[in-house]
Amino acid sequence: MNAYSGISHHVGKTPLIRLNHLSDLTGSEILGKAEFMNPGGSVKDRAALGIIEAAESAGNLKPGDTIIEGTAGNTGIGLTVIGQARGYRTVIVIPENQSPEKIQLLRSLGAEVLVVPEKPFKDPGNYNKVAQRLAQERGYFWANQFDNTANRDAHFKTTGPEIWEQTKGEVSGFVASVGTGGTLAGTSLYLKSQNARIATACADPYGAAMWSWFTQHNLETNDGDSIAEGIGQGRVTKNLEGLEMDAAYRIDDQTAFTILQHLRQQEGLFLGLSSAINVAGAVRLAKERGPGQVIVTILCDSGHKYLSKLHNPEWTQANGLRADLPIESVLNSQ
Ligand code: PMP
Repeated sequence: MNAYSGISHHVGKTPLIRLNHLSDLTGSEILGKAEFMNPGGSVKDRAALGIIEAAESAGNLKPGDTIIEGTAGNTGIGLTVIGQARGYRTVIVIPENQSPEKIQLLRSLGAEVLVVPEKPFKDPGNYNKVAQRLAQERGYFWANQFDNTANRDAHFKTTGPEIWEQTKGEVSGFVASVGTGGTLAGTSLYLKSQNARIATACADPYGAAMWSWFTQHNLETNDGDSIAEGIGQGRVTKNLEGLEMDAAYRIDDQTAFTILQHLRQQEGLFLGLSSAINVAGAVRLAKERGPGQVIVTILCDSGHKYLSKLHNPEWTQANGLRADLPIESVLNSQ
């Protein structure tokens, strides 16, 4: 056995970072799992590896095969990075409204990228449906991250145990937003299996249905919208089936954007908007249950992927986001 390993072995085991100011302001430990430090730069590397390994074990993937996936970008990046290391080609179907950085990165990594118009899930032109159809037509392996529960299993087997060990079992709350639901479901289910009193919460952007789902068991979404990429789910995916939450919060983009600026300027953390929505949810949970809580959330990906949009003052001003609000405004308004 060689003592050293390639990148598949280095997915996960990410640091847990104390968000110093928000912890001090709330009187609870607010901790961010640094998923942006994964080889492909996001939390989705875990799902990508889990899906690939499950397919290999089932005999559905062998070197030389092509993996296809419909993705907002990060899963495609994870599949491509891990795919390169294990001998798979990737074809990535991505909606046109995702950041140009992710699309360019996918192409630079060597994926074949199909950019498709943004369409609702029910439409046959939806990116996910296009991936499914092309898989059938061309004999590719469809990763199917939304309904393939190898995604949630990856978080049950890795993210959950890491958080439990890194907090020495002291974690008292876990918060995450939902794209496929793999992170929220797998991590919450593991933590609950260790201690049923750990509070789990969903942080949802406007325009998504998960807040309605977890609080009222309906899929109402007809209010508002969000510029957050990678999250904002309107249906109960297989990864979310059977999942109950102790709390769910709706987080508006301005609140998340204020947190995003704060994390950049005062914590040295350069992140995407889903991370800030997660941190906003963690602050809400801390305010409801604190002080003295140990609340963990996910820092999903880095700001590099959004330099032309979220981290471009011209773009954010044009989209009505204010960068000058103090962090206290978030704490007081929630
Ligand atoms: N944040 C970002 C930036 C993402 O790309 C994703 C995945 N699409 C998520 C959060 C949500 O993760 P999950 O699919 O596990 O719900």
